[in-house]
Amino acid sequence: MATLFVTGGAGFIGSAVVRYLMENTDWRVINIDKLTYAANLSSLGDTLTNERYYLAQVDICDQTALNELFAQYQPDAVMHLAAESHVDRSISGPADFIETNIVGTYTLLEVSRHYWQTLASSKRDRFRFHHISTDEVYGDLATDDPAFTETTPYAPSSPYSASKASSDHLVRAWHRTYDLPVLITNCSNNYGPWQHQEKLIPLMINRALAGKALPVYGDGQQRRDWLHVDDHARALHRVLTQGRIGNTYNIGGNNEYSNIDVVHEICRLLDEVAPRAGGSYSEQISYVTDRPGHDQRYAIDNSKITNELGWKPSESFSSGLRKTVVWALGMHKHSSFKEAIADADNDITTHREGQL
Ligand code: NAD
Repeated sequence: MATLFVTGGAGFIGSAVVRYLMENTDWRVINIDKLTYAANLSSLGDTLTNERYYLAQVDICDQTALNELFAQYQPDAVMHLAAESHVDRSISGPADFIETNIVGTYTLLEVSRHYWQTLASSKRDRFRFHHISTDEVYGDLATDDPAFTETTPYAPSSPYSASKASSDHLVRAWHRTYDLPVLITNCSNNYGPWQHQEKLIPLMINRALAGKALPVYGDGQQRRDWLHVDDHARALHRVLTQGRIGNTYNIGGNNEYSNIDVVHEICRLLDEVAPRAGGSYSEQISYVTDRPGHDQRYAIDNSKITNELGWKPSESFSSGLRKTVVWALGMHKHSSFKEAIADADNDITTHREGQL
């Protein structure tokens, strides 16, 4: 049985990865998570009581604690997802992004390198450090530009994307300089169950159901590619087990839509499955001042992972979004969920300068 370290396994994507691994492998998973505001242990469900799962509440900037975990559990691989991940928060307070995304990744790389160098040759050959990153490192595309490939130059716009770009560079340098066997993946916007309320899709669904305004930045014409989180988890497992050392793989869902189209589609689905008295949810849409430095378009060319590793997304955006809306409706039956999203909503207001 292999032992895998997953950092950020209580977050949105990390928890989907942990759930996927519990169901599809016999691996032991050690979840290294600081449990920040973004963590939600409920997202791990039955995993919490699985004897192959262990939670270490540790900050990835804490070198001593990481050294102890590596010595104790002797991992075969590391999947690194822990990060500060919300662009609005990176604008209102960049310090945590520099600390976790850059210093934390550096600390994890150094601890991993020292551990890896002491391994016996067969385990040393098998070891992998898989860094999970974002398409936002590539910056902004014009309407007619070709989609991002793995060789698109980096041009990050926000403190968030700049901190993720820095971490990608560190990971590549640790491969080039020290031969650490790394893999890097850059994915598009994820969506699905258990995403934090502050991100576009849950924000719109939950605020629509609460009868609140649906705040759309600028003219809403910013375009994103949408990837269902379970497709992403499957892709990450494929890259970890079959990816070529030192390579980058872009992961996208082939679902490019403007933000305003996404919001209209959410309203249409809600009108169908939870109609409200007096009209369509789309009447709650309100346009607010655009986010500073807002990128206009991201699009992912995922032909490398598709051709080389045989992965492709299984969820269309319409099927995935419908499932996500239905899932959120089910969660709204629980008063604790409604209280949690109301609290999160107040917090988000402060990061969007009151624009909700
Ligand atoms: P998230 O914000 O939902 O979860 C992040 C997790 O990391 C949380 O559980 C948090 O407690 C943990 N964490 C934060 N700081 C930590 C620290 N210092 N030490 C240990 N744990 C810490 O993020 P997510 O949406 O699940 O994203 C996971 C990864 O995927 C991130 O690296 C992010 O940059 C990347 N990514 C996300 C998306 C997306 O659409 N969500 C898209 C592209 C890339």
